Amino acid sequence: MSPAGKPQVWFLTGSQHLYGPETLEQVARQSQQIQRMLTESGRLSAEVVWQPVLTDTTAIRDVMLAANTDPSCVGVIAWMHTFSPAKMWITGLDALRKPLLHLHTQLNEALPWSTIDMDFMNLNQAAHGDREFGFIQTRIGVPRKTVAGHASDPLVADRIDGWVRAATGYSHLNGMKLARFGDNMRGVAVTEGDKVEAELRFGVSVNTYGVNDLVELVDAVGEDEIDVLVAEYADVYRLAPELHKGAERHDSLRYGARIEAGLRRFLTEGGFGAFTTNFEDLGGLRQLPGLAVQRLMADGYGFGGEGDWKTSALLAAVKAMGAGTGRGTSFMEDYTYHFGPGEPKILGAHMLEVCPTIAADRPSCEVHPLGIGGREDPVRLVFDAAAGPAVVVGLADLGERFRLVANEVEVVPPDEPLPNLPVARAVWKPAPSLSTSAESWLTAGGPHHTVMTQAVGSDTLRDFATMVNTELVVIDRDTTTASFSDRLRWNQAYFRLAQGLR
Ligand code: MN
Repeated sequence: MSPAGKPQVWFLTGSQHLYGPETLEQVARQSQQIQRMLTESGRLSAEVVWQPVLTDTTAIRDVMLAANTDPSCVGVIAWMHTFSPAKMWITGLDALRKPLLHLHTQLNEALPWSTIDMDFMNLNQAAHGDREFGFIQTRIGVPRKTVAGHASDPLVADRIDGWVRAATGYSHLNGMKLARFGDNMRGVAVTEGDKVEAELRFGVSVNTYGVNDLVELVDAVGEDEIDVLVAEYADVYRLAPELHKGAERHDSLRYGARIEAGLRRFLTEGGFGAFTTNFEDLGGLRQLPGLAVQRLMADGYGFGGEGDWKTSALLAAVKAMGAGTGRGTSFMEDYTYHFGPGEPKILGAHMLEVCPTIAADRPSCEVHPLGIGGREDPVRLVFDAAAGPAVVVGLADLGERFRLVANEVEVVPPDEPLPNLPVARAVWKPAPSLSTSAESWLTAGGPHHTVMTQAVGSDTLRDFATMVNTELVVIDRDTTTASFSDRLRWNQAYFRLAQGLR
């Protein structure tokens, strides 16, 4: 996991000795100006750390190896200010294990038509310097993102930040420990998966713990700790009257708080970044964890219901990508449809566990019966999701590899209030239409559990997919079922071939 504090991306500038020390000093000053432009845009969620201009094989390899081992460095940006003969980059690029962004820019914005001379051209030659660099990256097969444009352009900074966020999510996931309480729900196929491959591909270590290890911590929580949490609930949420202190269901709320404190202790002491629960395997727990899971998700923990560790890991990564945006990300499940009248929509929810970071308004804390699990009525937060653009993304294990499926959607207010629905929910219009979205999703074998994010867009997910070398198919406004099915077939061939023999 990335350490606390702002992540770093290193800014590398390529040139060569041929130009002499004076020109190289100018190259250094100019590349520092680019670094400042990016920093002062205020649009980057990582600190851009300038590194000395690179002009030989040893220095390039050394900085790449240093990037690999520095825990605060989530990725590397490279720019060829001048011509940097690319053989010197071969061993360094081959050794690089952090995400790479090739920034194709130049310091000078407007061409000085009336005064341009050879000196000017020699100092502003990224147009061909970066082509030499593009060639060697392609020749080696280095996965990277390429962004072209002037560094002062807000769109360029935003595209870099999309990649920075993907790199931050990847860094968060890489090395993460995920705790499963129980196995996955009996009989379900899509929540299965290859945990060895997941650790190799994403860096997340997935292991199961007996739920009674958690119950021990839950039972040991002190009454004073519960008092503090219950006071916080009353302060932050609209508390149902029956849950208030002295009211008839107050004990249910106190038990919900007890679960939260015990679960939080388990995760903190074990250094876990994500977890799963299973309503079929609750051991000595008196309620299915609802409120506790919702509040832990809001603090950045990954979660998947019914033992779904793949969605839990993905949620933890996407939450890290969206940090600081002020917009939310949640565990989600496609639940039921509105085919009409009016525009078709999907209503998504889960039994209990939707993250309050996507709430439109102050959540209501309530207690209701739960038809499955056979335990006491669980407390939960109930709300509608905030309207606005979002992406839902799911992770499927196809046997020989993973596939990410994403859909761009628009979260909308419910057509009417939903007074009898006792869970948090989101209503959305999927792009390009419900029928094309659903046909494409089903054809791709996408899961029913997803991550819904209002904090990052599909470009960031695409960058993430490149970093983890995993297929991503996106359903957006341009998708047709026919072209999408073709893409799946072509991807099937590509990913089989790209895997080679092993
Ligand atoms: Mn479910």
